[in-house]
Amino acid sequence: MLITNGKIITWEEPNTILEGYSIAVQNGFITEVAPETELLSRYPQAERLDAGGQFILPGNICAHTHFYGAFARGMAIPAPAPKDFPEILQKLWWPLDKSLNYENVRASAMVMLVQAIKHGTTTLIDHHASPNAIEGSLDVIADAVDHSGLRAVLSYEVTDRYGEAKAQAGIAENVRFIRRTNTEKVAGGRVAATFGLHASLTLSERTLNTCKDAAPEGIGFHIHVAEHEVDEYDSIAKSGWRVVERLHRHGMLGTRSIVVHAVHVDAREIYLLAESGTWVTHQPRSNMNNGVGLGDVESMLNAGVGVCLGTDGFSHTMWDEWKTAYLAHKLWNRDPQRMSATNVAQMAIYNNAWLAGSFFPNAPLGVIRPGAHADIIFVDYHPYTPLTMENLPWHIIFGFHESMVTTTIVAGKVLMRDRQLTVLDEKEIAGEALLQAPAVWERYRAQF
Ligand SMILES: [Zn+2]
Repeated sequence: MLITNGKIITWEEPNTILEGYSIAVQNGFITEVAPETELLSRYPQAERLDAGGQFILPGNICAHTHFYGAFARGMAIPAPAPKDFPEILQKLWWPLDKSLNYENVRASAMVMLVQAIKHGTTTLIDHHASPNAIEGSLDVIADAVDHSGLRAVLSYEVTDRYGEAKAQAGIAENVRFIRRTNTEKVAGGRVAATFGLHASLTLSERTLNTCKDAAPEGIGFHIHVAEHEVDEYDSIAKSGWRVVERLHRHGMLGTRSIVVHAVHVDAREIYLLAESGTWVTHQPRSNMNNGVGLGDVESMLNAGVGVCLGTDGFSHTMWDEWKTAYLAHKLWNRDPQRMSATNVAQMAIYNNAWLAGSFFPNAPLGVIRPGAHADIIFVDYHPYTPLTMENLPWHIIFGFHESMVTTTIVAGKVLMRDRQLTVLDEKEIAGEALLQAPAVWERYRAQF
């Protein structure tokens, strides 16, 4: 296939914008990026996908999300409203995750995947919880991802909050699914795995040891860290150490591990994250919604930590997350010089591509260049001021909207063309979730 007639933003380092160029795609990969006249004359018979003058970019990547959270939309939390983040966990997320059966897990993932395709998010790193449907839950999600055509990294969040047996089942589910991805190409190689842990505050010393012993060689961990200060207090009480130090002493940091949020970490913890090469993901919309504060992301970036950008289950609209990061740090610090657009692009483009790419190492991800995975979107944006490589991040923050995404391609397969989904049926998928929602909400309410 030849992708023609567009302005190509490659997101290479340094970034380039190519006009008059085409992209040749074969077997899921970009094989050539060359002048259009040259490719058209060399491949006159090739199928053509005309971008109609739109911008052509690598698909967006979400570094942390929860496919299981879809049924929370519109759900009433019994009064009084949660007063802080620990109460949000106890009154919203934990009773909700207990309400999910396998059917609900699939339906929740499917509606999230539809939204991701429509909004141009092509790779997602998921963190799953369904304590009454643990064994095989990652297969159910992998099957949904396979069906959608998207790319994802899956994990099950191990926790002690539902007792020993369910903690063990969570560990077994991670290990089983990691082994499965090691022995077969799940979803044609578009699904990878990592080892999920809920958060330090719901994990005992013993369970952390068991997880570390059970994790297959070379596998990292995906865990919420210091989202609220109670996580730090709990860690000090349990182990004598702050959370990142605790994970370090359990051998759980490293270049394959993902620390989510890191809102309340101290300087020593930032040092440990940088020194170990551990990834941090930042989700400012979630932080604002939960009222937990904002991590000192700029200090982390300056200290050499690879900070990435995720959604934490909010809609998979990565440019909304760009805008929130750009705005929230200015307000939080009362300083308009904080969080430059280049820092946001560093997180959302380069760091997300490095992190997600490490799970799909057979080709570069998140970049348009020969040899890279063919994960590509078209954006119908008409700049009325010059758009250059230098000012592109500001055009994205102030000009781009996910509604401008018209075409989404993953591994060379067109999943949406001219805003029409080609693989998934949104009405049917939303209809199925709508049929299931009353029973999920009923099981949720019955716990109060
Ligand atoms: Zn999360």
